Amino acid sequence: MARYIFITGGVVSSLGKGLASAALGALLQARGFSVRLRKLDPYLNVDPGTMSPFEHGEVFVTDDGAETDLDLGHYERFTGVPARMTDSVSSGRIYSNVLEKERRGDYLGKTIQVVPHVTNEIKDFLKVGEDEVDFMLCEIGGTVGDIEGLPFFEAIRQFSHDKPRGQCIFMHLTLLPYLAASGELKTKPTQHSVKELQSIGIAPDILVCRSEQPIPEKEREKIALFCNVRKEAVVAAYDLNSIYEAPLAYHREGLDQAVLDAFDISPAPKPDLRVWQDVADRIHHTDGEVTIAIVGKYTQLEDAYKSIKEALTHGGMANRVKVKVKWVDAEIFDTEDPAPHLEGFHAILVPGGFGERGTEGKIKAAQFARERQIPYMGICLGMQMAVIEAARNLAGLDDAGSEEFDHEAGKKRFTPVVYHLKEWVQGNAKVKRKVSDDKGGTMRLGAYDATLKDGSRVAQVYGTTEIDERHRHRYEVDVKYREKLEQVGLVFSGMSPDGRLPEIVEWPDHPWFIGVQFHPELKSKPFDPHPLFADFVRAAVETSRLV
Ligand code: GLN
Repeated sequence: MARYIFITGGVVSSLGKGLASAALGALLQARGFSVRLRKLDPYLNVDPGTMSPFEHGEVFVTDDGAETDLDLGHYERFTGVPARMTDSVSSGRIYSNVLEKERRGDYLGKTIQVVPHVTNEIKDFLKVGEDEVDFMLCEIGGTVGDIEGLPFFEAIRQFSHDKPRGQCIFMHLTLLPYLAASGELKTKPTQHSVKELQSIGIAPDILVCRSEQPIPEKEREKIALFCNVRKEAVVAAYDLNSIYEAPLAYHREGLDQAVLDAFDISPAPKPDLRVWQDVADRIHHTDGEVTIAIVGKYTQLEDAYKSIKEALTHGGMANRVKVKVKWVDAEIFDTEDPAPHLEGFHAILVPGGFGERGTEGKIKAAQFARERQIPYMGICLGMQMAVIEAARNLAGLDDAGSEEFDHEAGKKRFTPVVYHLKEWVQGNAKVKRKVSDDKGGTMRLGAYDATLKDGSRVAQVYGTTEIDERHRHRYEVDVKYREKLEQVGLVFSGMSPDGRLPEIVEWPDHPWFIGVQFHPELKSKPFDPHPLFADFVRAAVETSRLV
């Protein structure tokens, strides 16, 4: 039966709860325990799938096809445990389940209330898979005191009572602001935040305090006294140069020990931190730097491409180089020549995206990379744009385009080299979609297999010809244009096992030009960089040596 660690936050948002949870998961693994991490989000959207990346950052997709919060990406990157559909839930999903049950008559005509119906639904969610791991780490989104978060806080309070004593602990993240005028770290906001928690019946066992300054012993004692926690359970979280230093930093500050103490686990198994020491070593000891342009639409908000940014960092670690990322707004090239904007980069990446805005610019970026022999990685929409570029500029299909854009304009303007997929095979079953289906959940989502062409660059990069990768898209490159495109040299080097859906294209006579219909960034880890990113950065390093 799993032990539960509930992670909450107070004082301000963006304290790094997700990172603290992920780092703690990694530390418990280093001590030989198995872990699973979960996120409970108080917002009312049923899932983040239809939320704008401007609002919520990237949508992280699991193998089993759930569109989840980007914190699940952190969890996977730190623990290597593939997240599942049942690791992420929002208030919207909980309420929608409760209302569905009510409509079905499951509650036998009873009055439906937040307590117990909503809280029970949350507790059922928490219990899924409780026999599978030693520790279940559950992070509650938002901060204590948020109206929407209340049912979650009430549910975890009840949950810890339902379980035998000592099976659940609460870890609370707060901020210790530094007042330069008085030269002091202030503990009052932390005290208030803990009071707020206590007023809803939750007494934290561990306080993680974010601080820009070292926390003096005196302040630590004060926090312990006023917040009713042990002094050793007041753990400092200082700013870090790299998020991947977090496991070692939290270990130094005693977080994992405090957690094991709170559960009365003694003697505590010794941690094996070699993986994280190697990761830190690769961050601190680099030789050279490459600069990569990400040509996209949501460039003002880096969280929109969180996993790509991280995967590039991992690729840098694999090659022991620093990767500098520069965000370039694709829309600039709608009207301007891309050359002055893209010259000088050691590689170009065009990420996934939705809608027509900026796509002509992305097509030009692909053309620039192809003609100038600059390493190019096209992810999802970035692959589709590379194919359209080849179709227009080399295969004589001047009006090649995607049905995605026709749909928006309401009239046919393009030859649909990329078309709306309405039927495909998942495992042994057929999946069907209509154009008019809901915006949420109409995509090809989650892990699908692909077969790679023997002798292709991707087969060489992966070191195998059978792969599976995560997908999130509605449109596909139409295989009926394959022959025409292969005649001009574009190789279809990865296909779905039934040969109907192009998964990867590449230009063989190019230093590195690969487009993938899936999202390899979602599976990259600092201790296990994704082969495509590792090799893409290697190619960028080679380009940097040429100039
Ligand atoms: N908009 C494209 C599609 O739906 C690409 C999606 C993506 O890049 N994730 O197919």
